[in-house]
Amino acid sequence: MNEYDSNRIYDLVKKINYRKTLNPKDADCYVLNTCHIREKATEKVYHDIGRIKKAFRNKQKPIVVISGCVAQAEGEILLRREKYIDAVIGPQSYHQFNETLLKAEKGVKKINSTEFEVIEKFDQLNHIKNSESKVSSFLTIQEGCNKFCKFCVVPYTRGAEYSRSIIELVQECKSLVSNGAKEITLLGQNVNAYNFKGKRLSDLIKEISKIKNLKRIRYTTSHPIDFTEDLIKIHNTSEKLMPLIHLPVQSGSNKILKMMNRKHTIKDYLNIIAKLKIFKNNIQFSSDFIIGYPGETDKDFDLTIQLMKKVKYINSFSFIFSPRPGTPAASMKPIDESIAKKRLIIFQKIANEIKLNYRKNLLNKNSLVLFENKIGSKNEFFGRDEYLNSVIVKTNENLEGKIKEVKIVSGNQNTLYGEIIQKKETEFAA
Ligand code: SAM
Ligand code: SF4
Repeated sequence: MNEYDSNRIYDLVKKINYRKTLNPKDADCYVLNTCHIREKATEKVYHDIGRIKKAFRNKQKPIVVISGCVAQAEGEILLRREKYIDAVIGPQSYHQFNETLLKAEKGVKKINSTEFEVIEKFDQLNHIKNSESKVSSFLTIQEGCNKFCKFCVVPYTRGAEYSRSIIELVQECKSLVSNGAKEITLLGQNVNAYNFKGKRLSDLIKEISKIKNLKRIRYTTSHPIDFTEDLIKIHNTSEKLMPLIHLPVQSGSNKILKMMNRKHTIKDYLNIIAKLKIFKNNIQFSSDFIIGYPGETDKDFDLTIQLMKKVKYINSFSFIFSPRPGTPAASMKPIDESIAKKRLIIFQKIANEIKLNYRKNLLNKNSLVLFENKIGSKNEFFGRDEYLNSVIVKTNENLEGKIKEVKIVSGNQNTLYGEIIQKKETEFAA
């Protein structure tokens, strides 16, 4: 989402003649777009500012703006602690970016723009063309969260759930596709909570599936309690929808899920997976896990491992619980740090074995790969298969934006290497 936001910020500042520079030491302005989901984010801001200060020691100071969720959560503190910062702008105030920047140019110090004005923000951003299309582009359709999981800062930094108008979204999709996007990933903190005047995520997918040159659709991140029947069924009917779903579960223990206020059980979660598999038998899953949540016993941890082994996630993101200031879990009794660390190592080892096994099975098989870019000056192209696996092929042909059938010949933990087995662009899902 921050990548999408950064691109929109760039679309905005272009209007007042700011341009990206390839040489950071020449910059007149730095925007640090931050994430606050786990600790150390704030420290990173101070480190980055330290680096900027060093680079500009004998020159005129650039304008420094902190945006994103650290700005939202810690605006006042940042401005007080670090005089080098000119402005903080929270994610719901990006429509005020240019106004803020112009004030900073005039030397108006310490601008704090962290109101929750999400409706006004999207009303204004809808009129600015999204020009930063890549072959694979992001599109924020929903922001904020009403779920209040006890560990999470999102409801406090991004505000309440808000869904953008379906008409505006279809327009933005068309604009991205006409600029070269072949794949669009619909984004939201709870993307499947999307609800614009009764139109749900499945309705939006139906609409954008009609855009001719759009080849692939993905969405992330889904919450299990918003995984409604219409969304499950659309996986059967929309060929453009990719067969990989990121469905965070956080823990395999019902006791911990309850303590997290997740509002779903493991049975509910596995039911969704079973239903999806009926409609699409090649579907795969990835997930997020929090290890070492307050109250997590060996038994709870074992249930998380059992779930990992049962679902066989092809990818997972696991983190040790990080107490976030202001969230209810931050005041719960933490578990021993060394136990949490040991559990994370055990969990990630098992997750990696499952992932490796899955990837071994891809060898000598064919995959459909959407190529995104050439790698440096080499005759190599980078793309992703339907399951987001990175694939590299050697070729003299310009593959950017094309979908090709590729035979996977080797691979490691992160990358698969393949050979193109047909010369014509695959016309699937045209
Ligand atoms: N809305 C999504 C959901 O409910 O599944 C998750 C979005 S959150 C921005 C991304 C991930 O960060 C979460 O799934 C969770 O695993 C992780 N996360 C959030 N807060 C955390 C915390 N306090 N400590 C560790 N991990 C955390
Ligand atoms: Fe955070 Fe996701 Fe829970 Fe919302 S549903 S509070 S974004 S983890």
